[in-house]
Amino acid sequence: MQKSKLIYMDYASATPMDGRVLSKMHEILKGNFANPGSIHEMGIGATKILEQSRGEVAKILGAHNDEIVFTSGATESNNLAIFGVTKFFSECFLKSIAQAGEPSIAKIQQNFMCGFQKTAQKKIGNLPHIVTTNIEHSSVLETCKYLEKTKQAEVTYVPVEGSGIVDSRKIKKAIKQNTVLISVMYANNEIGTIQPIIEIAKEVRHYNKKNLKKIIFHTDATQAINYLPIKVEKLGIDLMSFNSGKIYGPKGVGVLYIKRKTPISKIMYGGDQELGLRPGTENISAVIGLTEALKITEKIKDKEIKRLTKLRDYFIKKLQSFYFSVNGELKNRLPNNINITIPKIPSDLLLLELSVRGIYVSEKSACKSGDKAGSYVIRALHQNLSNPKICKKIDGSLRFSLGRQSTKADVDYTIKSLSEILLKLNKWYN
Ligand code: PMP
Repeated sequence: MQKSKLIYMDYASATPMDGRVLSKMHEILKGNFANPGSIHEMGIGATKILEQSRGEVAKILGAHNDEIVFTSGATESNNLAIFGVTKFFSECFLKSIAQAGEPSIAKIQQNFMCGFQKTAQKKIGNLPHIVTTNIEHSSVLETCKYLEKTKQAEVTYVPVEGSGIVDSRKIKKAIKQNTVLISVMYANNEIGTIQPIIEIAKEVRHYNKKNLKKIIFHTDATQAINYLPIKVEKLGIDLMSFNSGKIYGPKGVGVLYIKRKTPISKIMYGGDQELGLRPGTENISAVIGLTEALKITEKIKDKEIKRLTKLRDYFIKKLQSFYFSVNGELKNRLPNNINITIPKIPSDLLLLELSVRGIYVSEKSACKSGDKAGSYVIRALHQNLSNPKICKKIDGSLRFSLGRQSTKADVDYTIKSLSEILLKLNKWYN
């Protein structure tokens, strides 16, 4: 089929690079290529560029410069947050075993090799405990599952409501004596639902104060940066992950915000770059790109929220002519996200039919596109719906995610194409 148009509606997976970002990066790539670790003049120049970026990112987040760690993306930031905090508490525990009259290296080694968890259970009753939700990005869920499987941590996965939003009281209820970390994403990558981060942060602060504890609160803000407030002090979080590839910057670079005095250990070894927490030569051009992208995003945020909310609602109104349901509630939702189920028709077929017509959308997270069992996020919504009939059969889902280049004409063309596709497929599936 001749593609008369190309309509990209997959901005939640990847955004095109902003031309201004590209020019900034080009400037740096052509200019100072030195290693910031070198102490000659060129190296010092590179450090200056890097630190200026750190300062600019910190300013936008309302953070201190020494609270910004550049990483290779949100997956790494999430890994550093979760492994790093758990590791810190485990290391403290090992130290306390040594100090408690068991200073033998062999003993500690034995504890590690054949059941650190047994010693842990004997000594303090349990392992470090993490609270998270069942719709986190795979880089959070898989990390938690690994820690669980290897008996390095206990994890509670709080189920979200049928709306796709987690009840902050359920997060609070899941806290145990040994809880060290709570990780709840700011906005979901598949259904765009926005979690009550400020409310959860308040609950955590209150619990910490009352119980003289230091439970750390981490949020994966990757999908939120374009459209939600990101001043860390106001959010009340200790750790925040995001990347540049979703904000019209280069891929392969991200940030972990780490509030001062947050207990966290490094998880990679080598040099002492990035506050000693993330070794390896810094990717300066990518960091420059991320910084420029973040600056632009902040500048146009309000305007884009208004424009895309209107466009999203127009899209949903136009969809009314089909038999469909929206996944996740509409109220607390990112302005660019439309996630729907068209019953009985396989969503992968719909996606391919759209793709043939030059319309690019997603079924679920690009990171889990090989998962044959469908979207775990959509399954999680159905788990919590009161109607058991709905739970029996879960149809696929389609995610249309809008962005800076999306227009009303794109929406009209998509609706028209969907209408043609459904006319064809309905004959086979209904
Ligand atoms: N978290 C969320 C919510 C995401 O949407 C993504 C990207 N799909 C990631 C983490 C992983 O980001 P990266 O590709 O930069 O590792």
